[in-house]
Amino acid sequence: MAPSGRQRLNRRVPTHQLVVADATLRGRDGRWQIGIDDGRIGALGRKPLSGREELDAGGGLVTESFVNGHMHLDKVYTLDRIGDAALTAYTSGEMGSALHSIELASAVKADYDRSWIEPNARRAVLEAVRYGVRHVLAFADVDTKARLEGVIPLLALREEFRGVVDLQVVAFPQDGLLRDPGAEELVREAVELGADVVGGIPWIEHSDAEAREHVRRMCELAAAQQRRVAMLVDDAGDPSLRTTEMLAEAMLEHGLVGRGVANHARAVGLYARPSVERLAGLARRAGLGFVSDPHTGPLHLPVRELTAMGIPVALGQDDIEDAYYPFGRHHMLEIAFLAAHALEAVDATGIDLVYEAVTTTAATVLGVTDHRLEVGGNADLVVHEHATLREVLTQHAAPRHVVASGRLVASSTSTTTFHLDQEVNA
Ligand SMILES: [Zn+2]
Repeated sequence: MAPSGRQRLNRRVPTHQLVVADATLRGRDGRWQIGIDDGRIGALGRKPLSGREELDAGGGLVTESFVNGHMHLDKVYTLDRIGDAALTAYTSGEMGSALHSIELASAVKADYDRSWIEPNARRAVLEAVRYGVRHVLAFADVDTKARLEGVIPLLALREEFRGVVDLQVVAFPQDGLLRDPGAEELVREAVELGADVVGGIPWIEHSDAEAREHVRRMCELAAAQQRRVAMLVDDAGDPSLRTTEMLAEAMLEHGLVGRGVANHARAVGLYARPSVERLAGLARRAGLGFVSDPHTGPLHLPVRELTAMGIPVALGQDDIEDAYYPFGRHHMLEIAFLAAHALEAVDATGIDLVYEAVTTTAATVLGVTDHRLEVGGNADLVVHEHATLREVLTQHAAPRHVVASGRLVASSTSTTTFHLDQEVNA
């Protein structure tokens, strides 16, 4: 019997707004079809789906999009303004000169001005679109030198790119609170302007008592204004630093459980094992997540050990061409690739760990919900050219396609034409 017109019509009527066809998924056999509606994953199965728009993954790996756990977005592309001195101090030996490097780096703020910061930050956000970075914990220096010149353009970019790259803007007193009288008022002002997260950098204060006071004031502000907290803690080669612990304690005390991020915490890499375990226990109770950037310094958080203890640890780009790091493309696959080496995480388990640290685990650390490739999850996806995670990391190419909030926002290709005498089968 000939098919009725209605059946034929049905076959042609798209049932989804967007379909990603012929996808390889992590941990599942075979090829999959993903149906997307209203920014969510509406269907996931083996049978063909029809969409108003269709992307052919061609058997490539499709995963959740990337999340950058830590980024100094107001300082990107400033290395040429400041020169190499701070970089040398920050990355030397076991980072004993990290404090000195922060003082050197603050020279860039002598002519801090939103008019040149905005285009720099915009360029870095566009790179995030290219490389499939969907969420960024974006720090803006808020202190008596930077004033509000860094945070204001980031707040504007947050509105402009919402739904494509979501910026969680951190009002960050880079030069300390008690060390820099006036910074606290500026942080309060930045929060009133709409900064999402209250920052902090307690380890650079001049005593443990002042560091504790720094943490207390910022957590109190976060609790009062219903914000999250994100602090740079223990960012030097000194095992006596204990401000990560102070942050976890203050989160418990101020009702901020599950709402805080500890960034860097490099000194933990020098702790004796019992101290790491003690800190992990406290962090678990406080719901404190961590972000590490092992490519930006010779010393780093013991990421694999903390992950094994059940603590969520993300990776961050941290810097792009600034006083602390001379490279960077806002490409989290590159960060995962570098971290795989720095953390000696090159076996299958390690590769899974570093990839999750720039996708799903990073979302957990930043408090982003529904960042998962399953029915009901957010339709924030990257389509890779290759099918396995190892190949994807080997190439660390830009994703072939980037889907944000259910919409295609970037496509990239890379081709080489060989001009050789012999036949090439590459
Ligand atoms: Zn940093």
